[in-house]
Amino acid sequence: AAKEEGRNTYRLFALDMNEKVSKFVWLDTNLRKAISEGQFELHYQPKKNLKTGKTESVEALIRWNSPERGLISPLEFIPYAEESGLIVPLGKWVMEEAARQAGKWKQQGLKIRIAINLSARQLRSPELINEFKKALLRENIFPSMLDLELTESCLIEDELLALNLIKEFSDLGAEVHLDDFGTGYSSLSHLARLPIDSIKLDRSFIHSIHNDIRAQRLLRSMVAVAQELELQVVAEGVETQDQLEFLRGIGVDHAQGYLFAKPMRVAELEVWMTHSSTLKSVA
Ligand code: C2E
Ligand code: MG
Ligand code: MG
Ligand code: MG
Repeated sequence: AAKEEGRNTYRLFALDMNEKVSKFVWLDTNLRKAISEGQFELHYQPKKNLKTGKTESVEALIRWNSPERGLISPLEFIPYAEESGLIVPLGKWVMEEAARQAGKWKQQGLKIRIAINLSARQLRSPELINEFKKALLRENIFPSMLDLELTESCLIEDELLALNLIKEFSDLGAEVHLDDFGTGYSSLSHLARLPIDSIKLDRSFIHSIHNDIRAQRLLRSMVAVAQELELQVVAEGVETQDQLEFLRGIGVDHAQGYLFAKPMRVAELEVWMTHSSTLKSVA
């Protein structure tokens, strides 16, 4: 699994029982402190618009830069942060940091949106929308400069709450994307009811394209449903040219994956953007 998670993944512990316990204890001792000390960084992974060839947005993906253990993957600590509730202050930091970066890029004349991931637990925080608005005001950016990625689990826990929040974000002008689509307790009715802008096809489907005709058919059907509902379709985890050709062929609008770029620090991303020469400048 570590291989599948890619180059940016650093395993904290193997998964036998004792190590699970010591991982829990280590996280329990260190995560809160890490939040107050600001030991996190956002890496950004481009999403390519397949129709225009341009990079219009990047996804912010958190990493923990631990003085003790180095760079730690979100897969290692987000589940614990969700369980413990620490995802609320951590998610607030992510939102503020992404807004800061969006403000910087706006000042530099770069036209690029940032997508942030939200956990179900964050939706239950009554402060979420206000913190979002405050972050925008502070950085002098528009709601349309930040996209929100929600997973289906966000919708299951409290559907009405999720519906209202998605409406609020959407009324403000922020795009809402349904992440890891097809893996959760997908209910197609969500798609018709929620004012979302796009679905992100989970990378497990993309991974199977080359040898699994059923995955291909499923993808084709999901795209057809999305198109009927006038939703954009994003494919995540695109690693090969063959996958890209297939996805393009079935009408996928945007793609993200190691084929284009891995998640990068800001400096590296800025170099990448200059070289990829796919970026529109507002100026
Ligand atoms: P996600 O939102 O579905 O993000 C996509 C994950 O796929 C990222 O892993 C990304 O690095 C990885 N990926 C991108 N392209 C490829 C590819 O071509 N091949 C493969 N094998 N993997 C690819 P990452 O950065 O480890 O993040 C894992 C998950 O952690 C995210 O899944 C998201 O659910 C969660 N996460 C990350 N940052 C945040 C955050 O700020 N807040 C919250 N609540 N969750 C976050
Ligand atoms: Mg995501
Ligand atoms: Mg995803
Ligand atoms: Mg995913």
